[in-house]
Amino acid sequence: MSRCLQLALNGEIGAPPNPMVGAVIVCDGRIIGEGYHARCGEAHAEVNAFASVSRADESLLPQSTLYVSLEPCAHYGKTPPCAELIVRKGVRRVVVGCVDPFAKVQGRGIQMLRDASIDVTVGVLEQECRWLNRKFFTYHTYCRPYVTLKWAQTSDGVMGELGGGPLLISNPATLRHSHHLRATNSAILVGWRTNVNDSPSLTTRHYSGPNPRRIVYDSHAETIPQLLSRLYGEGVQSLLVEGGAATHRQFLDLGLWDEIHQELGVRSEELGVGSEELGVRSEELGVRSEELGVGSEELGVGSEELGDKFQISNFKFQIKTVFAPRLTMQPDAEEMIGTHRILHYYNRKS
Ligand SMILES: [Zn+2]
Repeated sequence: MSRCLQLALNGEIGAPPNPMVGAVIVCDGRIIGEGYHARCGEAHAEVNAFASVSRADESLLPQSTLYVSLEPCAHYGKTPPCAELIVRKGVRRVVVGCVDPFAKVQGRGIQMLRDASIDVTVGVLEQECRWLNRKFFTYHTYCRPYVTLKWAQTSDGVMGELGGGPLLISNPATLRHSHHLRATNSAILVGWRTNVNDSPSLTTRHYSGPNPRRIVYDSHAETIPQLLSRLYGEGVQSLLVEGGAATHRQFLDLGLWDEIHQELGVRSEELGVGSEELGVRSEELGVRSEELGVGSEELGVGSEELGDKFQISNFKFQIKTVFAPRLTMQPDAEEMIGTHRILHYYNRKS
């Protein structure tokens, strides 16, 4: 089953909106065939696994076990049902990683095999198999896209300056990481303010893969739950949110997120932003205003009016630094890419 998961991952770019699936055929401890679902609309993992069996090994199929990371399909989609193929090929036993949540399958594939007297085991490395396809599962289970929040900030929490244009925090290596995220999500969202300020191109340039559909979110036109339910209806399985801070904050406040990628770059003064120009570090600025009991509201500029909770407006210094959302939870994973740290958070662990 571990080998099935390895194989399945090869379909990361091509398989969606179908799930990634890997299949392995074993006879007497020897792998005689394996395959994965490479591209939506093309052959499923099981079909490719059977096709890879050499003519010499064909006769071994009745004594073989088929391992597959997701329940074989039982419906006529773009290809005929795999459960029928398995019955026809006549393997002795089938081991299934997890049940398919997709309404047209949901246990029917397994039933079809059992009806043909094939010995079926379900739930091997089940958590891992479900985790691999968490976008697919979230979409079908919660009827909304899988939501990934992604932002880059300086190590002291600055995302940019209002009206200052895009702040280049990422380095070439972390850009590749971000563009991998773009290639593996169906749509990418920015708030209208970010769209106006930064005019981001939101295309996949540093990783091979498709450009996600571009969505500019306006909270005055639609709430986030409305947006997600509309995107579900339009078949958008996964959504990458790339900011800005206020948009991220809205998703966080609603708890409508599944995954966060937080990139920590260099300190703000190295980029010449934040309060360094003014001789005060942004952190100190934040602490000082708190200590003095002066938030933006007391200065007469309610954060709501500015439409951005993370904007600290300080008339004395005439700057508006945009801070990244402050996360209170611990990261679930961390990776170093060059000098940058990327922290990963997961809302649900399975
Ligand atoms: Zn199939």
